[in-house]
Amino acid sequence: MKLNLDKIVSAVTGRNPLLTEEETLCLYPSINVMMTANGKYKPCCKWVDTLHNEGEELQAPRHTIEDAWKSSELVDLREQLKAGKKPDKCSVCWKEEESGIRSMRYDSFSYRPSKESVANPKAPIRLDIYPSNICNLKCRICSPEYSTRWIAEAKETQGIEEETHLNLNKDNLDILKDWLPNVVEIGLFGGEPLFMKETLMLMEYCVEYGFSKNITLLINTNGTIYSDNLMKVFMAFKRVLINFSIDDCGQRFEYQRSGAIWETTVQNIKSYVDNKANYGNHSIEYKMCCTVSALNVFYLPEYLSWVSATFPGMSVYLNFLHGPYSLAMRNLPTKVKQRIAEKLSSTESALKVEFEEGVTRTWDNVLNMLNAPAEQPSELFFNELERGDTYRKESFQNVFPEYWELLQPFNPNAEATD
Ligand code: SF4
Repeated sequence: MKLNLDKIVSAVTGRNPLLTEEETLCLYPSINVMMTANGKYKPCCKWVDTLHNEGEELQAPRHTIEDAWKSSELVDLREQLKAGKKPDKCSVCWKEEESGIRSMRYDSFSYRPSKESVANPKAPIRLDIYPSNICNLKCRICSPEYSTRWIAEAKETQGIEEETHLNLNKDNLDILKDWLPNVVEIGLFGGEPLFMKETLMLMEYCVEYGFSKNITLLINTNGTIYSDNLMKVFMAFKRVLINFSIDDCGQRFEYQRSGAIWETTVQNIKSYVDNKANYGNHSIEYKMCCTVSALNVFYLPEYLSWVSATFPGMSVYLNFLHGPYSLAMRNLPTKVKQRIAEKLSSTESALKVEFEEGVTRTWDNVLNMLNAPAEQPSELFFNELERGDTYRKESFQNVFPEYWELLQPFNPNAEATD
């Protein structure tokens, strides 16, 4: 399918929409820069590498976000995309477009930057920021790259070396302050972005100097942090979209998101929802973001029922876990996948979830992801359960008894774990 955004491209850039080079134009490298959890930089989240300057990989604190913005590789990328080339590192977008999917490249036009800022980009108008990998939780699906609570466990049990990355350091904060007058959107991810004082400093700076009224904030949070002060800060922004990373309920939630307390987390989300009204009619929106993995897919119907009963009207975004491979549901034993599919298919409750922004998905989409061909042997899943349970002194068997019964016949470590 040929996607045609010629009119939009023409309106935004003033370029002739009939020129073939428009087929590859993407504005993200001209309007956006991303700071990753481990202190590297990218033009967007889909790009399959991190930015280099004259062959040297850029890394905070040695290199700043401004070094990334002015890097030879980003300058070159802008030119390639304007010149009708398809850089290999943008392969995610090309593959999606070949499959008829609307790639992220097309979203870049929605920001409607000025012709001048596209032709001669001086500073980004959009920022994707992972302030650090500092986190207060040690989620099973995570890694030390995204959570400092994982560092010791990954080193001792997996031999992975990682360190704490404070990316939103003084140098980067000072640069962002210079850019803020023209910024229209900031994404804050983690680690846990609301756990860091630097994130609050950045948001408060936006409020103090009046930039916040022009800025949309996108925040992914684990829901463990709430304060009235945070609500007051959010209220000063033009628009705020908050995704709560909640994938399951009760004890199962606490097992998967180690360090979180279920009742407290639910109460925090209720405070966010209730106090929206208390703080006035503001444009703040909430969404549940459920990462579907081999750990929670069996309980997806129960989770969706809980969301609709506890937070009526709140939409759910289903994010399918691809890595780590050991926890991807496609790698579960085939017979287990069949039994899960039977359970999901027999669930009466209407599935009203979003997979992409604004796109409602059905059980068929979940089943397609579940039944996708395995990429790794299923024993990796059992090994990972055992590794985590042994180190954390936890028991999957005790917390997920019905699911465990289903899994057990396929567990190559069964004797060792019984
Ligand atoms: S084409 Fe895709 S991968 Fe490349 S910069 Fe644009 S959005 Fe990112």
